[in-house]
Amino acid sequence: MQPIGCGDVFSPPVPAPHEKARPLAKGSVYPAKDLCSQCGLCDSRWVAYVKQSCAFLEQRFEAMEEQAHGRSRDLDNQDELYFGVQQRMLSARLLQPLDGAQWTGIVSRIGVRALESGLVDAVLCVGQSPDDRFTPVPRLARTPEEVLSARVNKPTLSPNLEVLEQLPGSGIRRLMAIGVGCQIQALRAVQSTLPLDDLYVLGLPCVDNVSRQGLQTFLESTVSSPETVVHYEFMQDFRIHFRHSDGRTETVPFFGLDTPKLKDVFAPSCLSCFDYTNAGADLVVGYMGATFGRQWITVRNPKGQVLLDLVEDELDVAPVSSSGDRRAAVQQGIEAYDKAVRLPLWLARLVGFFVERFGPRGLEYGRFSIDSHFTRNALWLRRHHPEKVAAHIPAFARRIVSRYRLPDA
Ligand code: FAD
Ligand code: SF4
Ligand code: SF4
Repeated sequence: MQPIGCGDVFSPPVPAPHEKARPLAKGSVYPAKDLCSQCGLCDSRWVAYVKQSCAFLEQRFEAMEEQAHGRSRDLDNQDELYFGVQQRMLSARLLQPLDGAQWTGIVSRIGVRALESGLVDAVLCVGQSPDDRFTPVPRLARTPEEVLSARVNKPTLSPNLEVLEQLPGSGIRRLMAIGVGCQIQALRAVQSTLPLDDLYVLGLPCVDNVSRQGLQTFLESTVSSPETVVHYEFMQDFRIHFRHSDGRTETVPFFGLDTPKLKDVFAPSCLSCFDYTNAGADLVVGYMGATFGRQWITVRNPKGQVLLDLVEDELDVAPVSSSGDRRAAVQQGIEAYDKAVRLPLWLARLVGFFVERFGPRGLEYGRFSIDSHFTRNALWLRRHHPEKVAAHIPAFARRIVSRYRLPDA
């Protein structure tokens, strides 16, 4: 008999896929074809549910939000329109930052505490290949050491859900899953079929992800010595901060990027994605809505608060803030990106200097980034997949995009 899954209160448990269901062969064309983000679902027997679960075959934001949080977002509430269902938003940093983490390590610390406190039996996280720091290796971590060794972003598409294949027979009944939006959309869709008693979801915001090859092109066109980069992040000061293996840091202004070359670097999945702020997660930990150097946290539901409770007394917490006005900058950016304008470095630094001092900060920076990416992606979809536009762009993104003038498709 199949185990009962951790279904939500709104839907009855659905049988797990028959054990004869097989992952798709690596290298085959996956059902979402060019839009596949390699979330890993098709690398597990849960491929049986791909039609209803894949973020690129069927968008189901409202149903997912209702399933996970008990309601969908209120489109007339500006914070929810942009950042999703929430009961609390705050900014924070670990009082004792974790060495080698992407930011201060709040995500890894929650994973460690979830295991130590007995809240869960395992944490789904992403380690790195022994041969390449940027090649992701998803795992079900059973010890705090395994969670810690998965700290820091692997800024490439990661097949997180392939490890679902390891669940049956593993003894894992309570799981905390860390993941980006497309992975969490598929996970939520199959949640009620999983052999679990409980699931906690810690989401990361995510945009502009790339394949491993795409990352190489990005590094080679942007940074002085691509082979020594160990960490990078697009930060709230409108610069990309690179850290090299010798401890040196290097910053490159956003406005100085080689846009003509980079337009083709981002994965098609990510150019058609509107789940920047991870709508289905219980708790989201990023940086985009916080001031420079701090992390930004959204608690979507009581389970998210349970996760935050594990570490809250270890955090320096502050309310979220917001200043500046993003709208003119977003509109100018749409046109500049479309024409693939590349500024000379001196001008890029000058623009960066003024934007950093007078531009959007805190939540307004978050809205700047969401507006810029949603408009770009809506245009990309119109040009490359016009047949998908109506069904694929969720209502919240349509409302945001409608505030701007887009170039002709
Ligand atoms: P750490 O403690 O260092 O832990 C990082 C966690 O990330 C690890 O548990 C690991 O399992 C997980 N992880 C690593 N790589 C991947 C991957 N490829 N897919 C799924 N999970 C992974 N935040 C924003 O505010 N705006 C953004 O635009 C943004 N883009 C992102 C793009 C990507 C591809 C990723 C992975 C994250 C992005 N984030 C973004 C989140 C942000 O960069 C930090 O990951 C987050 O703030 C947590 O920092 P930390 O120090 O607490 O994480
Ligand atoms: Fe399968 Fe995930 Fe690719 Fe969709 S995105 S086709 S669910 S691997
Ligand atoms: Fe997935 Fe969207 Fe991130 Fe791409 S940008 S990896 S599609 S969540």
